[in-house]
Amino acid sequence: MTQAPASNELFQRAQKSIPGGVNSPVRAFRAVGGNPRFMVSAKGPYLYDEDGNRYVEFINSWGPMILGHAAEVVNEAVQKAIPNSLSFGAPTRREIEIAELIVSMVPSIEKVRMVNSGTEATMSAIRVARGFTGRDKIIKFEGNYHGHGDSFLIAAGSGAITLGVPDSPGVTKGTAQDTLTAPYNSLDAVKALVDANKDQVAAIILEPVAGNMGLVTPQQGFLQGLRDLCDQEGIVLIFDEVMTGFRLAAGGAQELYGVTPDMSTLGKIIGGGMPVGAYGGKKEIMDFVAPAGPVYQAGTLSGNPIAMAAGMAMLTYLKEHQEVYTDLEKTTNSIVAGIKQNMQQLGLNYTINQVGSMFSLFFTEQPVVDFETAKTSDTALFGRYFNSMLEKGIYLAPSQYEALFVSTAISGDLVDQFVQANYEALQEAHN
Ligand code: PLP
Repeated sequence: MTQAPASNELFQRAQKSIPGGVNSPVRAFRAVGGNPRFMVSAKGPYLYDEDGNRYVEFINSWGPMILGHAAEVVNEAVQKAIPNSLSFGAPTRREIEIAELIVSMVPSIEKVRMVNSGTEATMSAIRVARGFTGRDKIIKFEGNYHGHGDSFLIAAGSGAITLGVPDSPGVTKGTAQDTLTAPYNSLDAVKALVDANKDQVAAIILEPVAGNMGLVTPQQGFLQGLRDLCDQEGIVLIFDEVMTGFRLAAGGAQELYGVTPDMSTLGKIIGGGMPVGAYGGKKEIMDFVAPAGPVYQAGTLSGNPIAMAAGMAMLTYLKEHQEVYTDLEKTTNSIVAGIKQNMQQLGLNYTINQVGSMFSLFFTEQPVVDFETAKTSDTALFGRYFNSMLEKGIYLAPSQYEALFVSTAISGDLVDQFVQANYEALQEAHN
């Protein structure tokens, strides 16, 4: 049983000076009950909190730490970059190198602009798609999350679900009107929206594998169907690969599923843990971005040398070690097989979705294919399961509606530890 008096005290203190005590809502554990653990350090597969507790990591900073924490290849690159200045605000050779590397890895990207977060990437991509097409409306999918830009806080996933504010106050009616939503995996619903808004839809944006309502996979033909529809209707197809980029394959979900969008947004792994995002796509679209074109987008810290050093080291490693993806999938397959075996032993039949090194255990017996079916999960049961896993030193995402991420630091004995803890936690959650 882990004790966390120091974390509990810090959480009380944090709430006096930080809204809700955290700098990003889902960290507050509101969806699972209890107090968040305050972290001090992390190495490889382990996180260490203020009370000296050790946890095996299955969030990995919500995706970026694909090589585990404090990976030497990334840390060394950062340390080497630091003495040369933390920020120039002027162009550098490294920015060209990372742009060339991204272009070489991600099928849809011919030109790319670096920004500081996934949110900035998606906001900017939408602006460019609107500028390029001269149209205002966008289509997004229920339960997909594209960061906290106004246009995306309509039927949004991730923390917006668990906070119960999928349509956030503060987003104007005008903005909301331009965001049309469809159920994930429903090509028919998208076609109906496009028909009803003829020549008004600038972009369709989606997570090609959805990770923000728990993990939901695209059904056969869904991505290609969207590709065909966008071609017919002159709509810009945007894959938001902030989560899946460089995780599901070196070229992201678009490489894995063989469907190439017009634009892609990236984040998380691209910065190796530093605050980085990027958006890119076809030359003729990206040449609309200032100063090449008229669509304004800028950033004081964009292309920051330390962030670029971290990103460059991470992406270079992944490009040169593509066996990482088969290894990660193997590890994740054993975890998922272990969970299935546990459930069989306990007479349970919950749904598990998995693609590569991302997976979710949904506390529902229904197949989960969209937000409606994801919502059939028993979230109270999930909360008990989560807290029981935490007590056993396994750090999961504190919400039913998040995916788990496996890193290369998870070895066979940690898989066994997970599976054993999972068996006990499932039992305890049902008592
Ligand atoms: N898009 C997707 C698919 C995401 O998963 C996220 C964050 O989880 C974002 C965009 C927003 O990225 P950030 O939190 O870096 O702003």
